[in-house]
Amino acid sequence: MKFTPEKCRIPDIAMKPFIDVDELHDFLDRPKPTTKQVQDIIQKSLNKKRLSLAETADLINADDPELIEQIKAGAQTLKRRVYGNRIVLFAPLYIGNKCVNNCKYCGFRTSNKDQIRTTLMDKQIIQEVEALEENGQKRLILVYGEHPEYDADFMAHTVKTVYAVKKGSGEIRRVNINAAPLDIEGFKTVKKSGIGTYQVFQETYHPETYKHYHPSGPKSDFNWRLTSLDRAMEGGIDDLGIGALFGLYDWRYEVLAMVRHANHFEAVYNIGPHTISFPRIKAAAGTDVDQKYLVSDEDFIRLIAILRLAVPYTGMILTAREPASIRKEVLTFGVSQIDGGTKLELGSYSEDQFDSQNLNREQFEINDSRSLNEIIDELLDQGYLPSFCTGCYRVGRTGEHFMEFSVPGFIKRYCTPNAILTLSEYLLDYAPDKTAEKGWEVIEDNLHKINNTAAETETRKRLERIKNGERDLFF
Ligand code: SAM
Ligand code: SF4
Repeated sequence: MKFTPEKCRIPDIAMKPFIDVDELHDFLDRPKPTTKQVQDIIQKSLNKKRLSLAETADLINADDPELIEQIKAGAQTLKRRVYGNRIVLFAPLYIGNKCVNNCKYCGFRTSNKDQIRTTLMDKQIIQEVEALEENGQKRLILVYGEHPEYDADFMAHTVKTVYAVKKGSGEIRRVNINAAPLDIEGFKTVKKSGIGTYQVFQETYHPETYKHYHPSGPKSDFNWRLTSLDRAMEGGIDDLGIGALFGLYDWRYEVLAMVRHANHFEAVYNIGPHTISFPRIKAAAGTDVDQKYLVSDEDFIRLIAILRLAVPYTGMILTAREPASIRKEVLTFGVSQIDGGTKLELGSYSEDQFDSQNLNREQFEINDSRSLNEIIDELLDQGYLPSFCTGCYRVGRTGEHFMEFSVPGFIKRYCTPNAILTLSEYLLDYAPDKTAEKGWEVIEDNLHKINNTAAETETRKRLERIKNGERDLFF
């Protein structure tokens, strides 16, 4: 179905995309900032204020090694001070890899005839979800290629199928989606199925580059994609994820454009994007990607720190595309959600034959194939509090990142207790003894840190109830 601007409440937005290439380049062409300017900008972010485009451009242009270190340190302080030590865990579930588009970087593109095309049937979805629940997963993101078979009704059906699967004390409590843009009616249909976040990555905000990498299919329409999340808002989904695929164009431009996209949401809907993603291009079957803009590890870390400071109350997602060492390092700069136990091959959670990766059965290569428990082990060793919390979403507290950030005591009253309660379920139901031992120590430590007697007492009471067999208690 084609988008009709007159159906949009804010036709201007539909008609006039908010990305202005020259404007963004003008910001990037500003003179380099002084040390004092950079320090003031960092301070502004630490004072819980979102940065302007000019300020973000200044952080991007600050390439003196000493200033880069100060930006990274600022992001670390912000992360520690505002968000504490919780890391939310999830897993992707690929539903179907048929695709009518021809994205040059993706193994699913239609011209890749070697790709083995599969769409999970209900029975297979159920098997996959049971396997994920048996590992302790509570939050999934469903991923689809773009294909007439994967319309809004199909997506809604698969979401409902996932929610209905209960294996032992397992259940999926939040289903997010990463899929092609829909029209307003489509977003309404998917919203009714009870999804959490709808993610659409713009891939590149640079129209010329976009055209090059998306030569055919519906995805070749830059503006249809750029305005997709406005249509989602119109369809009632206010929990949205934006992203750029780093390596297609200059990372500096993409960072600034993502901040522009976030500003657009705030200006028009008074709510920022729920999450921001910044995948780097990875190997995929027979892809055709120019090496010119590939992002080094050093610049990757730098751009994550800049994004953290620029949009301080947006959740940041880092996936298993990145190797364990990079994931470990960037957690300190503001990443708040990671996947664990990830498998991309369709049907691979429930079928043992897919132990090694086969690029003809998946979208791209992952570089962190550790199990969920291995990831949890490492997080606990580093003093993080792994969380499967879905509390805000389920009591209708949307804009939770904003509240974490701006409502005094919110994290202590809601986030830390809910993280503790969901971790305790994992430790009781799924963790090996060694992980459980470490986990209870981390829980005890974090209970002390709540520093709010009423919240601590209430959390301890609920922990006892969970130990006695109750599940799914949250604030
Ligand atoms: N087909 C839908 C779409 O394109 O919007 C769903 C998303 S796709 C299955 C998930 C995301 O993976 C894409 O938006 C893109 O950013 C990313 N991706 C594609 N190829 C990639 C590669 N080779 N390396 C890393 N990420 C890739
Ligand atoms: Fe299809 Fe999405 Fe891959 Fe593009 S990125 S080829 S739309 S699955």
